Amino acid sequence: MSNYLIKYCFSILMCFTFSVVGLMLSTPVQANTVTAVRIWPADIYTRITIEAEKPILYKMTTLKDPERVVVDVEDVDLNVVIKALSEKVSESDPYISKIRVANFKPKVVRLVVDLKGEAKPAIFTLPPAGDYKHRLVLDIYPTKDPLMAMLDERDNPPQTVDVTANNKSTQVVTLPQSTDVPSVTVDSNVAAVKIDEGAKPANTTTTNSVNAVETTSQTSQTSATLQAEVSKEVPDNKPSSKGLRQITIAIDPGHGGEDPGAIGATGSREKEITLLIAKKLKAKIDEEPNMRALLTRDGDYFIPLHMRVLKARKLQADLFISIHADAFTNPAARGSSVFALSEKGATSASARYLANKENQSDLIGGVSLNVKDPLLARTLLDLSQTATINDSLKLGKAVLGNIGEINKLHKNHVEQAGFAVLKSPDIPSILVETAFISNPDEERRLNDSAYQDKLVLSILTGIKKYFSTNPALAKTKVALD
Ligand SMILES: [Zn+2]
Repeated sequence: MSNYLIKYCFSILMCFTFSVVGLMLSTPVQANTVTAVRIWPADIYTRITIEAEKPILYKMTTLKDPERVVVDVEDVDLNVVIKALSEKVSESDPYISKIRVANFKPKVVRLVVDLKGEAKPAIFTLPPAGDYKHRLVLDIYPTKDPLMAMLDERDNPPQTVDVTANNKSTQVVTLPQSTDVPSVTVDSNVAAVKIDEGAKPANTTTTNSVNAVETTSQTSQTSATLQAEVSKEVPDNKPSSKGLRQITIAIDPGHGGEDPGAIGATGSREKEITLLIAKKLKAKIDEEPNMRALLTRDGDYFIPLHMRVLKARKLQADLFISIHADAFTNPAARGSSVFALSEKGATSASARYLANKENQSDLIGGVSLNVKDPLLARTLLDLSQTATINDSLKLGKAVLGNIGEINKLHKNHVEQAGFAVLKSPDIPSILVETAFISNPDEERRLNDSAYQDKLVLSILTGIKKYFSTNPALAKTKVALD
């Protein structure tokens, strides 16, 4: 009898359990919803971003002949937003020819990214940042970074480089063995040539986000084309009439791509203003006989902060100038300001606030958390930056003084804080907040070409003033490798 009771109770319990489990299974679990898709094509790399309400689950595989990247986005419905990804591919995209979007199976959307040639994909997710929700980021990089290849070659140069191009004669330039004189000018503006669509893809591409992201830079030009472009710009190694060597200035237009920076009341975006001003500054500097300028980015794409530093160092820049436009909750805040790095905390609460805000660029622009740059970490740990910071302060003072003649100053001295982009241990670096984009009057001025010209001229005058008292000596660079 008791056995019967136990069996009876057990069957009731099992019935109940199965019913509960059955109920749980039949309750529809809300799938994730894709809310936005974006593509940022650039010579340096193309980024595809998928944004959704919840963390995005995915699987990526690569296929050859022809080259494709296949990404299965899981637990999502095929909605109009994700479908629109196909239409967002630009014909001029250096890497992507087409994206096909379809349901692979229920709740799994398959993206097939058809590539124009061999490329290196990197995929990672990002937690919510800025105005963004959860993101899945797929970056398509060139397999060999032409800029870094050129720079490596410069570090171990061949005896001669024939710059004969287009059947014209005849100049052969000998590249110097010494790195004291910058021997190669690599101008990001020369990047123009795309991967040959007919090019036969070569070996297999695997998923290695660390390598892919760390080798970021530049274009999809064939190395031969880049060689020609660079060779054209090999500077005259003769000393100038004043006996000075050529000075290289890295200009860093803040933000870009996924990271718009601050946005003004009428919709001006900091990333666009900074690029405009940086390009103008580059043009003015290039007109100077002993100077040349290089941009850390020349289009609307994102570069991690440490990559900006690394690029300037690889190019052996003498100065680094990061261009920004300030913003504050109070639209009355106005004026230009100049900042340098601090190793020992910020010089004011507002400088600390600003550095934190600017350092969020990586979170908003999107950097894989797997990618930490060991090089940068090492140089920052090992080297005192005191001497460089002193030079940065002198440069900042000279620039601030000149900007003060064309705009009200927010602070009349150079402030310091822990700006990640100013952390070159051996390049005097400043960050210029050109004006407040959040101030309607200054937003208008930032969009005014005549004001931009005046601003650029005042920065250049400041740079020249700095060099008049701090001549550019032969550089003793910190080893990079
Ligand atoms: Zn900024």
